[in-house]
Amino acid sequence: MLTEADVVVIGCGGLGAAATAELAARGRRVVAIERFSALHDRGSSHGSERIVRTAYTDPMYAQLAAESLRAWGRIERDTSQQLLTMCGGIDTGFVDELRDIASSCASAGMPTEWLEPAEANRRFAGFRFEDPVLFQPVSGTVHADRAVATFHDLARRRGAELHFDNPVESVVNDGQRAIVRTSRGDVRADQIVFTSGAWADRLLEGMLAGFSAGLDRLARLPELTVTMERVLFFRPVIDVVWPTFIRRRIPEYYGLPTPGGLLKAGGHYTGAPVDPDRRAEPDAVAQRAVSDWMRENVPGVDPEPVSGTTCLYAGYPDEDFLVDRVGNVVFGTGLGGHGFKFLPELARRIADLVDGTSLVDNPFAFDREPRSVGPSGHK
Ligand SMILES: Cc1cc2nc3c(=O)[nH]c(=O)nc-3n(C[C@H](O)[C@H](O)[C@H](O)COP(=O)(O)OP(=O)(O)OC[C@H]3O[C@@H](n4cnc5c(N)ncnc54)[C@H](O)[C@@H]3O)c2cc1C
Repeated sequence: MLTEADVVVIGCGGLGAAATAELAARGRRVVAIERFSALHDRGSSHGSERIVRTAYTDPMYAQLAAESLRAWGRIERDTSQQLLTMCGGIDTGFVDELRDIASSCASAGMPTEWLEPAEANRRFAGFRFEDPVLFQPVSGTVHADRAVATFHDLARRRGAELHFDNPVESVVNDGQRAIVRTSRGDVRADQIVFTSGAWADRLLEGMLAGFSAGLDRLARLPELTVTMERVLFFRPVIDVVWPTFIRRRIPEYYGLPTPGGLLKAGGHYTGAPVDPDRRAEPDAVAQRAVSDWMRENVPGVDPEPVSGTTCLYAGYPDEDFLVDRVGNVVFGTGLGGHGFKFLPELARRIADLVDGTSLVDNPFAFDREPRSVGPSGHK
């Protein structure tokens, strides 16, 4: 069976779903193909929470995060779904990074407040602080599963076709028209949106043969590193409103409240590189380190986790994303450990690229210069 479309989206996790919804809103005939079921837990977007924050050392990211927060708000209003919970956020650790964050937030019009340890301990009773804290009132969480389901729903209502449990096997592309092959039939489209997360490099290798132009740019693409990250869930022993939190030291730890009342915590880039098709055993030492850190620094929870789960980071070495176009293929990959908060804005940029609009000073281009203020150690 052959389906005809304007655009075929390969991978319908977080970014693929957001891009499909955006493209369908612009009147494109879109077919999205996803290897696993809707809201599966094999990739990078599952679970009930991700941190949303503008607290980046790099002003470009703070601005993008502020725009994304406004976009999430519009989606909430249009769909009558509550996706965001704005509980505030705190950062501790390297003071020079905290200063850069305060300055980036200010440039994006976002407030921050410095708290001395005594004041921070009074305001946030679940923690033990010994250093200054940077509080960001405009920070919180996004309900990840609900957000992805909302994008699926919006996409369908706008006329897109979503095919789940249907791995893309190969792509034949002459630069004008592409045929995307699956065991359940082929899709022929003018353009491809490539949002395959942790499997991007693998699928790309097979696609390269079909590229007639742009190989030189693709060749510069750094290798995607896929790591399996473990997060743990802790039960609070006091009744407080929990903010999201990040400890900016090495290793970096972070945490956030969950809709079920537990506190989720983990290490940023503390997992081992993995083959995304193989389930690896969680690293017991890294897990114990998170628990020990919680015992020391977050006495408002029972330090023995009640449960845990895993998730894949798939990122480039500079932790910057790739959102760019080569011929008739638009890429949205490398979202790593911090991409969820930006989904609506990245989807808008992908749809602009599909429409033929070039992104001015695109920070996520193939041939970007290394950023002078690196986004190191963020969530
Ligand atoms: C533990 C953890 C904590 C995180 N915390 C935060 C946070 O607090 N804040 C934040 O902003 N971000 C956070 N992130 C990052 C964020 O969740 C990810 O960057 C984002 O969800 C990635 O979305 P994606 O669409 O690129 O990948 P995915 O959602 O994995 O989507 C890729 C899809 O492509 C599909 N696919 C692959 N190959 C094929 C094929 N051959 N055919 C068809 N489909 C295919 C896959 O099945 C998958 O569904 C976190 C990530 C993890 C793992």
